[in-house]
Amino acid sequence: MSWSIKNWQRNRILQQEGMPESIWQNLIHLRCLSGLNPEELTRLREWTTLFLHQKQIVGVQELEITDEMRVTIALQACILILNLDLDYYRNWIEIIVYPDEFILDYDYTDQYGIVHHAHQIAAGEAWSAGPVILSWQDIAHSTSQAGHNVVIHEFAHKIDMLHEGANGCPELHANMSAYAWHEVFSEAYAKFCRQVDKQQTTVIDPYAAESPAEFFAVLSEAFFELPLIVQQHFPSIYEQLALFYRQDPVQRWR
Ligand SMILES: [Zn+2]
Repeated sequence: MSWSIKNWQRNRILQQEGMPESIWQNLIHLRCLSGLNPEELTRLREWTTLFLHQKQIVGVQELEITDEMRVTIALQACILILNLDLDYYRNWIEIIVYPDEFILDYDYTDQYGIVHHAHQIAAGEAWSAGPVILSWQDIAHSTSQAGHNVVIHEFAHKIDMLHEGANGCPELHANMSAYAWHEVFSEAYAKFCRQVDKQQTTVIDPYAAESPAEFFAVLSEAFFELPLIVQQHFPSIYEQLALFYRQDPVQRWR
């Protein structure tokens, strides 16, 4: 679709589908939105409206999805793409919301061709070219717990998956160096895994040691929720994430 047709369509949606002011005012105090200026808030509101037009948010196990819940999910998903584009969430439509944590039950094949069965409890899950699955209880909880944000986490996976699958490296912009990204992330990930192996206290969720993809998702959560911590403990990663998301949350927090 050409740029001008897409913009015309987007403008039409923005004119026709306003968001209730009371819901917006209730939610713009979320921690991950701290310090956004009026121009950024206007842009975030536009992305959120377009996102809600494009995606279906469906409750399961009798969970009723209210307008406020829809906006809560949408605007946290859109903080990641504030200075990128909604196209980062292309080729899929559905967001499935469980009342609480849910059970993942699936088979997967490892690198040696052996099939395993996984049965685990999850707060969120993102499928490549498929839905995002979230636990409402965890979304509600993460709005009160600094550093954890299940929506940002799963949508960071979605952005990562667009490029060569979930491997902790999204498609980088022209002004970025793939070499620098790999150097910085590989070194920090190896160091982080050693810390977790030794059961040392970590400043971000130790779950980040699961894989490079989880390391990227957990650091993306922290980048928006605890930017000063990321800048202090992972300065080179902070730089790479600021280049990728085209945002500098530490500046906003000053
Ligand atoms: Zn994850």
